[in-house]
Amino acid sequence: MKVLVINCGSSSLKYQLIDSVTEAAVASGICERVGIDGRFTYKPGDGEKIITDVEMKDHSAAIQCVLDALIHESYGVIKSLQEIGAVGHRVVHGGEKFASSVVITDEVVKAIEECNELAPLHNPANLIGIDACKKALSEVPMVAVFDTAFHQTMTEEAYMYGLPVKYYEEYKIRRYGFHGTSHSFVSKRLVEVAGLDLNDSKVIVCHLGNGSSVSAVKNGKSVDTSMGLTPLEGLIMGTRSGDLDPAIIEFIAKKEDKTISEVMNVLNKESGVYGMSNRLSSDFRDLDKASNEGDVYAKRAVKVFSYHVAKYIGSYVAAMNGVDAIAFTAGVGENDHVVRAQTISYLGYLGIQLNPENNKARGKEIMISTPDSKVKAYIIPTNEELAIARETVALV
Ligand code: ADP
Repeated sequence: MKVLVINCGSSSLKYQLIDSVTEAAVASGICERVGIDGRFTYKPGDGEKIITDVEMKDHSAAIQCVLDALIHESYGVIKSLQEIGAVGHRVVHGGEKFASSVVITDEVVKAIEECNELAPLHNPANLIGIDACKKALSEVPMVAVFDTAFHQTMTEEAYMYGLPVKYYEEYKIRRYGFHGTSHSFVSKRLVEVAGLDLNDSKVIVCHLGNGSSVSAVKNGKSVDTSMGLTPLEGLIMGTRSGDLDPAIIEFIAKKEDKTISEVMNVLNKESGVYGMSNRLSSDFRDLDKASNEGDVYAKRAVKVFSYHVAKYIGSYVAAMNGVDAIAFTAGVGENDHVVRAQTISYLGYLGIQLNPENNKARGKEIMISTPDSKVKAYIIPTNEELAIARETVALV
């Protein structure tokens, strides 16, 4: 079966057509500037990327553009739309309603809508994608795969905040966690690669990308994760601050005569390694290069980032009373040997020794600790689209 995986944002729509047997991406790409003017990127299998300016007045037009490309005479990859057996949608927030993926029905759409206020920037866009696909592929079953679902196994010790209880009871303010599809995919693979027994395993996944989070996974279930009610909590990220003293918000607001929304904008878009590097870049490639050239801000930003990753690993070792293996994944985790080496330099107490030769690897599955390390560390590439496709096939 071919599964169309859709990740819909407010003005963009990422897609991949995945063959469920070979698990290869038959085609992939992105529609950008949807509702503005429209830019369409399409890549058939191993072929060349095609980028065109195409007017896309809304997400329905974007989906149409994708479907037209998939069956195009010269660069299409399928003969007819009948070959699409299912559509898998990434949905950011499933609140407490969704602890696993579900086949999309009218009731499910309503329940997702009810989670909108927990992710006002993301869920409405995800729903627009669902609606657009429903119109274009009315007979094809669709599945919603939630970023939060994998972490619904956390117990109240891990998900409750130290706030008046009414905020949880009335507004559902609690830790939800994100990147669940990736944490689930990578933790399962890590258990396999490390030769562990899933039902007797303790692993930690460091998903380090533009957005970053760490999770503790015991016996295949998420027991804790660093993102919270929103993806702002936890690690320092590309442009997000991650954890801080909440009093800082009022302090900045007073100093700079800013509203709460303006301060939140600073914390979401102007902080993280971008802010710490004095606006040099949120991209670790730029930061590593600048560090090598002696830029003290860039060097400090990367050091502080790695230190925070190591601190989270330590706290999750405590939460699980041990750890068997640790994985680094996503853009930074898979590619940045500096961050991995710095993080592992704090983990000697776990009996982890870095293998510097293997740590030079990029984007491939490999053990980066020495073979005799007590706890093993690996690079495990993530593949959220494939994870969504697998969930979709399993449900339809
Ligand atoms: P997103 O959260 O947007 O999905 P990704 O997981 O794709 O992010 O990670 C993107 C980030 O990965 C980039 O911003 C960059 O910091 C980092 N990255 C990508 N390639 C490299 C590389 N070769 N070396 C270091 N960092 C890299």
